[in-house]
Amino acid sequence: MQKPYVFITRKLPDETLVELNQIAEVKMWPHEEEAVPRDVLLAEARKADGLLTMLSDNFDAELLQQASSLKVVANLAVGYDNIDIKTASNLGITVCNTPDVLTDSTADLAFSLILATARRIVESANYVKEGKWNSWGPLLLAGADVHHKTIGIVGMGRIGEAVARRAKGFDMKILYHNRNRKPEAEVSLNAEYKDFHELLKQSDFVVSLAPLTAETKGMFNREAFQSMKESAIFINVGRGAAVDESALIEALQNKTIAGAGLDVFEKEPIDPKHSLLMMKQVVALPHIGSASVETRMKMAELACRNIVNILNGKEPETPVT
Ligand code: NAP
Repeated sequence: MQKPYVFITRKLPDETLVELNQIAEVKMWPHEEEAVPRDVLLAEARKADGLLTMLSDNFDAELLQQASSLKVVANLAVGYDNIDIKTASNLGITVCNTPDVLTDSTADLAFSLILATARRIVESANYVKEGKWNSWGPLLLAGADVHHKTIGIVGMGRIGEAVARRAKGFDMKILYHNRNRKPEAEVSLNAEYKDFHELLKQSDFVVSLAPLTAETKGMFNREAFQSMKESAIFINVGRGAAVDESALIEALQNKTIAGAGLDVFEKEPIDPKHSLLMMKQVVALPHIGSASVETRMKMAELACRNIVNILNGKEPETPVT
Protein backbone atom coordinates (compact mmCIF):
# COMPACT_ATOMS: atom_id res chain seq x y z
CA MET A 1 0.00 0.00 0.00
CA GLN A 2 1.23 3.48 -0.86
CA LYS A 3 2.29 5.55 2.13
CA PRO A 4 0.59 8.92 2.70
CA TYR A 5 2.57 11.97 1.60
CA VAL A 6 3.58 14.67 4.09
CA PHE A 7 5.26 17.95 3.23
CA ILE A 8 7.14 19.96 5.89
CA THR A 9 7.54 23.63 5.03
CA ARG A 10 10.86 24.26 6.81
CA LYS A 11 13.91 22.20 7.72
CA LEU A 12 13.41 20.37 11.03
CA PRO A 13 15.90 18.19 12.96
CA ASP A 14 15.82 14.59 11.62
CA GLU A 15 15.44 13.13 15.13
CA THR A 16 12.00 14.74 15.48
CA LEU A 17 10.76 12.93 12.36
CA VAL A 18 11.49 9.28 13.25
CA GLU A 19 7.87 8.25 13.90
CA LEU A 20 6.51 10.23 10.96
CA ASN A 21 9.08 8.70 8.59
CA GLN A 22 7.84 5.21 9.56
CA ILE A 23 4.29 5.79 8.36
CA ALA A 24 4.61 8.42 5.61
CA GLU A 25 6.66 9.50 2.66
CA VAL A 26 8.05 12.76 4.00
CA LYS A 27 9.49 15.64 2.01
CA MET A 28 10.96 18.65 3.72
CA TRP A 29 11.74 22.12 2.37
CA PRO A 30 15.53 22.07 2.79
CA HIS A 31 16.02 25.61 4.13
CA GLU A 32 15.89 26.68 7.74
CA GLU A 33 15.58 30.42 7.22
CA GLU A 34 13.89 30.70 3.85
CA ALA A 35 10.14 30.36 3.40
CA VAL A 36 8.63 28.06 0.76
CA PRO A 37 7.58 30.15 -2.28
CA ARG A 38 3.82 30.28 -2.80
CA ASP A 39 3.91 28.27 -6.08
CA VAL A 40 5.87 25.43 -4.43
CA LEU A 41 3.49 25.46 -1.45
CA LEU A 42 0.48 25.24 -3.78
CA ALA A 43 2.02 22.35 -5.74
CA GLU A 44 2.91 20.45 -2.54
CA ALA A 45 -0.48 21.12 -0.93
CA ARG A 46 -2.23 19.69 -4.01
CA LYS A 47 -0.62 16.27 -3.45
CA ALA A 48 -0.17 16.18 0.35
CA ASP A 49 -2.15 14.11 2.87
CA GLY A 50 -0.52 16.06 5.66
CA LEU A 51 1.31 19.36 6.00
CA LEU A 52 3.59 20.47 8.83
CA THR A 53 3.55 24.26 8.58
CA MET A 54 5.15 27.37 10.05
CA LEU A 55 3.37 30.52 11.26
CA SER A 56 4.90 32.40 8.32
CA ASP A 57 3.06 30.19 5.78
CA ASN A 58 -0.26 31.61 4.69
CA PHE A 59 -2.91 28.87 4.39
CA ASP A 60 -5.83 30.73 2.89
CA ALA A 61 -8.97 29.42 1.20
CA GLU A 62 -7.36 29.45 -2.27
CA LEU A 63 -4.66 27.06 -1.11
CA LEU A 64 -6.83 24.81 1.04
CA GLN A 65 -9.47 24.40 -1.68
CA GLN A 66 -6.86 22.97 -4.03
CA ALA A 67 -5.54 20.49 -1.44
CA SER A 68 -7.92 17.69 -2.37
CA SER A 69 -6.27 14.86 -0.35
CA LEU A 70 -5.23 16.99 2.63
CA LYS A 71 -6.36 15.61 5.99
CA VAL A 72 -4.22 17.53 8.48
CA VAL A 73 -2.35 20.80 8.81
CA ALA A 74 -0.09 20.74 11.88
CA ASN A 75 1.16 24.25 12.61
CA LEU A 76 4.44 24.61 14.51
CA ALA A 77 3.00 27.32 16.78
CA VAL A 78 0.23 27.81 19.31
CA GLY A 79 -1.20 30.70 17.22
CA TYR A 80 -3.00 29.72 14.01
CA ASP A 81 -3.99 33.09 12.54
CA ASN A 82 -2.04 32.10 9.38
CA ILE A 83 -4.64 29.40 8.60
CA ASP A 84 -8.21 29.88 7.38
CA ILE A 85 -9.73 27.66 10.06
CA LYS A 86 -13.31 28.01 8.80
CA THR A 87 -12.44 26.84 5.28
CA ALA A 88 -10.28 24.00 6.65
CA SER A 89 -13.14 22.87 8.87
CA ASN A 90 -15.67 23.03 5.98
CA LEU A 91 -13.31 20.89 3.92
CA GLY A 92 -12.87 18.34 6.72
CA ILE A 93 -9.18 19.21 7.22
CA THR A 94 -8.04 19.00 10.84
CA VAL A 95 -5.82 21.86 12.00
CA CYS A 96 -3.50 21.27 14.96
CA ASN A 97 -1.26 23.62 16.96
CA THR A 98 1.42 23.23 19.65
CA PRO A 99 0.03 24.68 22.90
CA ASP A 100 1.49 24.12 26.40
CA VAL A 101 4.93 22.85 25.32
CA LEU A 102 5.99 26.43 24.53
CA THR A 103 4.28 28.23 27.41
CA ASP A 104 7.21 28.62 29.81
CA SER A 105 9.81 29.42 27.13
CA THR A 106 7.57 32.14 25.69
CA ALA A 107 6.87 33.55 29.16
CA ASP A 108 10.64 33.61 29.83
CA LEU A 109 11.12 35.60 26.62
CA ALA A 110 8.30 38.01 27.50
CA PHE A 111 9.87 38.63 30.88
CA SER A 112 13.31 39.05 29.28
CA LEU A 113 11.80 41.76 27.06
CA ILE A 114 10.32 43.52 30.10
CA LEU A 115 13.71 43.54 31.83
CA ALA A 116 15.69 44.35 28.69
CA THR A 117 13.49 47.32 27.81
CA ALA A 118 13.14 48.71 31.33
CA ARG A 119 16.81 48.31 32.24
CA ARG A 120 18.13 49.28 28.78
CA ILE A 121 20.07 46.02 28.50
CA VAL A 122 20.58 46.01 24.71
CA GLU A 123 21.56 49.68 24.62
CA SER A 124 24.01 49.14 27.52
CA ALA A 125 25.56 46.01 25.98
CA ASN A 126 26.08 47.87 22.68
CA TYR A 127 27.57 50.81 24.61
CA VAL A 128 30.29 48.55 26.02
CA LYS A 129 30.96 46.72 22.74
CA GLU A 130 31.14 50.01 20.81
CA GLY A 131 33.91 51.23 23.16
CA LYS A 132 31.82 54.11 24.55
CA TRP A 133 32.31 53.17 28.21
CA ASN A 134 34.82 55.70 29.50
CA SER A 135 33.81 56.04 33.13
CA TRP A 136 31.10 55.16 35.63
CA GLY A 137 28.28 57.73 36.01
CA PRO A 138 25.52 57.97 38.63
CA LEU A 139 22.75 58.02 36.03
CA LEU A 140 24.65 56.46 33.15
CA LEU A 141 22.17 54.26 31.24
CA ALA A 142 19.79 54.34 34.21
CA GLY A 143 16.48 52.69 33.38
CA ALA A 144 13.23 51.95 35.20
CA ASP A 145 12.66 49.41 37.96
CA VAL A 146 10.56 46.35 37.26
CA HIS A 147 10.12 45.04 40.82
CA HIS A 148 7.12 46.32 42.79
CA LYS A 149 5.61 47.89 39.64
CA THR A 150 2.22 47.09 38.05
CA ILE A 151 2.01 44.68 35.13
CA GLY A 152 -1.12 44.57 32.97
CA ILE A 153 -1.53 41.40 30.90
CA VAL A 154 -3.92 41.60 27.97
CA GLY A 155 -4.74 38.01 27.01
CA MET A 156 -3.95 36.14 30.23
CA GLY A 157 -4.17 32.58 28.96
CA ARG A 158 -1.52 29.88 29.32
CA ILE A 159 1.43 32.16 28.50
CA GLY A 160 -0.06 35.20 30.23
CA GLU A 161 -0.48 33.22 33.47
CA ALA A 162 3.12 32.01 33.20
CA VAL A 163 4.21 35.66 32.82
CA ALA A 164 2.11 36.55 35.87
CA ARG A 165 3.85 33.80 37.90
CA ARG A 166 7.19 35.37 36.98
CA ALA A 167 5.85 38.84 37.85
CA LYS A 168 4.81 37.55 41.28
CA GLY A 169 8.46 36.70 41.95
CA PHE A 170 9.29 40.35 41.23
CA ASP A 171 6.68 41.51 43.78
CA MET A 172 4.63 43.12 41.01
CA LYS A 173 0.96 44.03 41.18
CA ILE A 174 -0.82 41.96 38.54
CA LEU A 175 -3.73 43.25 36.44
CA TYR A 176 -5.25 41.33 33.54
CA HIS A 177 -7.84 41.69 30.83
CA ASN A 178 -9.53 38.82 28.95
CA ARG A 179 -13.05 38.54 27.58
CA ASN A 180 -13.81 36.25 30.52
CA ARG A 181 -12.67 36.47 34.12
CA LYS A 182 -10.48 33.74 35.64
CA PRO A 183 -11.50 33.39 39.29
CA GLU A 184 -8.88 30.71 40.03
CA ALA A 185 -6.03 32.82 38.64
CA GLU A 186 -7.33 35.82 40.55
CA VAL A 187 -6.83 33.83 43.76
CA SER A 188 -3.62 31.93 42.94
CA LEU A 189 -1.83 34.87 41.30
CA ASN A 190 -3.53 37.64 43.23
CA ALA A 191 -4.45 39.07 39.82
CA GLU A 192 -7.08 41.81 39.45
CA TYR A 193 -9.44 41.87 36.48
CA LYS A 194 -9.71 45.24 34.74
CA ASP A 195 -11.48 46.47 31.65
CA PHE A 196 -9.08 47.22 28.81
CA HIS A 197 -8.77 50.99 29.32
CA GLU A 198 -8.51 50.78 33.11
CA LEU A 199 -5.68 48.24 32.72
CA LEU A 200 -3.89 50.55 30.27
CA LYS A 201 -4.27 53.52 32.65
CA GLN A 202 -2.92 51.72 35.72
CA SER A 203 -0.09 49.56 34.32
CA ASP A 204 3.63 50.33 34.23
CA PHE A 205 4.13 47.40 31.85
CA VAL A 206 1.40 46.49 29.37
CA VAL A 207 1.92 43.01 27.93
CA SER A 208 0.04 41.93 24.80
CA LEU A 209 -0.53 38.17 24.69
CA ALA A 210 -3.97 37.72 23.14
CA PRO A 211 -4.29 35.66 19.95
CA LEU A 212 -4.74 37.54 16.68
CA THR A 213 -8.45 37.56 15.82
CA ALA A 214 -10.84 39.98 14.12
CA GLU A 215 -11.50 41.36 17.62
CA THR A 216 -7.87 41.87 18.68
CA LYS A 217 -6.55 43.17 15.33
CA GLY A 218 -5.34 46.73 15.89
CA MET A 219 -6.60 46.84 19.51
CA PHE A 220 -3.45 48.72 20.56
CA ASN A 221 -4.33 51.85 18.61
CA ARG A 222 -3.75 55.57 19.20
CA GLU A 223 -6.50 55.73 21.83
CA ALA A 224 -4.98 52.75 23.66
CA PHE A 225 -1.49 54.31 23.77
CA GLN A 226 -2.98 57.62 24.89
CA SER A 227 -4.59 55.81 27.85
CA MET A 228 -1.20 54.54 29.06
CA LYS A 229 1.11 56.28 31.56
CA GLU A 230 3.93 58.41 30.13
CA SER A 231 6.33 56.05 31.91
CA ALA A 232 4.64 52.91 30.52
CA ILE A 233 6.52 50.24 28.61
CA PHE A 234 4.56 48.27 26.02
CA ILE A 235 5.54 44.64 25.43
CA ASN A 236 4.20 42.63 22.50
CA VAL A 237 4.82 38.89 22.41
CA GLY A 238 1.38 38.03 20.97
CA ARG A 239 0.99 38.98 17.33
CA GLY A 240 2.18 42.08 15.48
CA ALA A 241 -1.17 42.90 13.92
CA ALA A 242 -2.72 43.43 17.37
CA VAL A 243 -0.88 46.76 17.20
CA ASP A 244 -1.42 49.74 14.93
CA GLU A 245 2.30 50.32 14.38
CA SER A 246 1.92 53.88 13.14
CA ALA A 247 0.11 54.71 16.40
CA LEU A 248 2.90 53.01 18.37
CA ILE A 249 5.58 54.97 16.49
CA GLU A 250 3.70 58.20 17.16
CA ALA A 251 3.30 57.33 20.87
CA LEU A 252 7.03 56.64 21.21
CA GLN A 253 8.10 59.71 19.21
CA ASN A 254 5.76 62.01 21.19
CA LYS A 255 6.79 60.37 24.49
CA THR A 256 3.16 59.37 25.14
CA ILE A 257 4.76 56.14 26.42
CA ALA A 258 8.37 55.47 27.45
CA GLY A 259 9.40 52.38 25.52
CA ALA A 260 8.48 49.15 23.79
CA GLY A 261 9.79 45.58 23.75
CA LEU A 262 8.60 43.81 20.62
CA ASP A 263 9.00 40.19 19.54
CA VAL A 264 6.35 40.41 16.81
CA PHE A 265 5.52 42.90 14.05
CA GLU A 266 2.76 43.69 11.57
CA LYS A 267 5.01 42.54 8.74
CA GLU A 268 7.68 39.94 9.43
CA PRO A 269 10.57 40.05 8.82
CA ILE A 270 10.50 43.76 9.62
CA ASP A 271 12.13 46.17 7.16
CA PRO A 272 15.54 47.07 8.66
CA LYS A 273 14.78 50.74 7.91
CA HIS A 274 11.48 50.63 9.87
CA SER A 275 11.06 53.64 12.20
CA LEU A 276 10.62 51.37 15.22
CA LEU A 277 14.14 50.04 14.75
CA MET A 278 15.59 53.57 14.76
CA MET A 279 14.46 54.25 18.34
CA LYS A 280 16.76 53.45 21.24
CA GLN A 281 13.77 53.00 23.58
CA VAL A 282 12.64 50.02 21.47
CA VAL A 283 13.98 46.50 21.94
CA ALA A 284 13.13 44.45 18.85
CA LEU A 285 13.47 40.69 18.50
CA PRO A 286 12.85 38.42 15.46
CA HIS A 287 9.80 36.49 16.76
CA ILE A 288 11.78 34.17 19.04
CA GLY A 289 9.18 33.72 21.81
CA SER A 290 9.39 29.92 21.90
CA ALA A 291 12.88 29.65 20.43
CA SER A 292 14.80 27.49 22.87
CA VAL A 293 16.25 24.31 21.39
CA GLU A 294 14.40 22.14 23.93
CA THR A 295 11.04 23.77 23.24
CA ARG A 296 11.39 23.83 19.46
CA MET A 297 12.19 20.08 19.56
CA LYS A 298 9.07 19.43 21.68
CA MET A 299 6.96 21.53 19.28
CA ALA A 300 8.25 19.61 16.26
CA GLU A 301 7.65 16.26 18.00
CA LEU A 302 4.11 17.26 18.97
CA ALA A 303 3.31 18.48 15.44
CA CYS A 304 4.59 15.16 14.03
CA ARG A 305 2.58 13.10 16.54
CA ASN A 306 -0.55 15.03 15.54
CA ILE A 307 0.02 14.16 11.87
CA VAL A 308 0.81 10.50 12.69
CA ASN A 309 -2.37 10.20 14.76
CA ILE A 310 -4.60 11.70 12.05
CA LEU A 311 -3.07 9.59 9.30
CA ASN A 312 -3.52 6.50 11.49
CA GLY A 313 -7.20 7.36 11.99
CA LYS A 314 -6.73 8.39 15.65
CA GLU A 315 -7.53 11.59 17.52
CA PRO A 316 -4.78 14.23 17.44
CA GLU A 317 -3.40 15.43 20.79
CA THR A 318 -3.89 19.15 20.18
CA PRO A 319 -6.50 19.96 17.53
CA VAL A 320 -7.60 23.56 17.11
CA THR A 321 -11.25 23.69 18.03
P1 NAP B 1 -4.35 31.00 25.23
O1 NAP B 1 -4.08 30.12 26.39
O2 NAP B 1 -5.46 30.66 24.30
O3 NAP B 1 -4.56 32.48 25.81
C1 NAP B 1 -5.08 33.52 25.07
C2 NAP B 1 -5.83 34.45 26.03
O4 NAP B 1 -6.27 35.58 25.28
C3 NAP B 1 -7.04 33.80 26.67
O5 NAP B 1 -6.95 33.93 28.06
C4 NAP B 1 -8.23 34.58 26.10
O6 NAP B 1 -9.20 34.73 27.14
C5 NAP B 1 -7.57 35.92 25.73
N1 NAP B 1 -8.28 36.61 24.66
C6 NAP B 1 -8.78 36.10 23.49
N2 NAP B 1 -9.41 37.06 22.80
C7 NAP B 1 -9.31 38.19 23.54
C8 NAP B 1 -9.79 39.51 23.37
N3 NAP B 1 -10.53 39.86 22.30
N4 NAP B 1 -9.50 40.43 24.31
C9 NAP B 1 -8.81 40.08 25.42
N5 NAP B 1 -8.34 38.84 25.65
C10 NAP B 1 -8.59 37.91 24.71
O7 NAP B 1 -3.06 31.15 24.31
P2 NAP B 1 -1.51 31.12 24.74
O8 NAP B 1 -0.99 29.74 24.59
O9 NAP B 1 -1.34 31.84 26.02
O10 NAP B 1 -0.91 31.99 23.52
C11 NAP B 1 -1.32 33.32 23.34
C12 NAP B 1 -0.82 33.90 22.04
O11 NAP B 1 0.56 34.18 22.14
C13 NAP B 1 -0.91 32.98 20.82
O12 NAP B 1 -2.19 33.03 20.22
C14 NAP B 1 0.14 33.53 19.90
O13 NAP B 1 -0.41 34.48 19.03
C15 NAP B 1 1.13 34.21 20.85
N6 NAP B 1 2.43 33.51 20.91
C16 NAP B 1 3.54 34.17 20.46
C17 NAP B 1 4.76 33.55 20.53
C18 NAP B 1 6.01 34.27 20.08
O14 NAP B 1 6.93 33.59 19.63
N7 NAP B 1 6.08 35.57 20.17
C19 NAP B 1 4.88 32.24 21.04
C20 NAP B 1 3.72 31.62 21.47
C21 NAP B 1 2.50 32.26 21.41
P3 NAP B 1 -10.75 34.92 26.76
O15 NAP B 1 -11.11 33.80 25.81
O16 NAP B 1 -11.44 34.87 28.07
O17 NAP B 1 -10.86 36.26 26.13
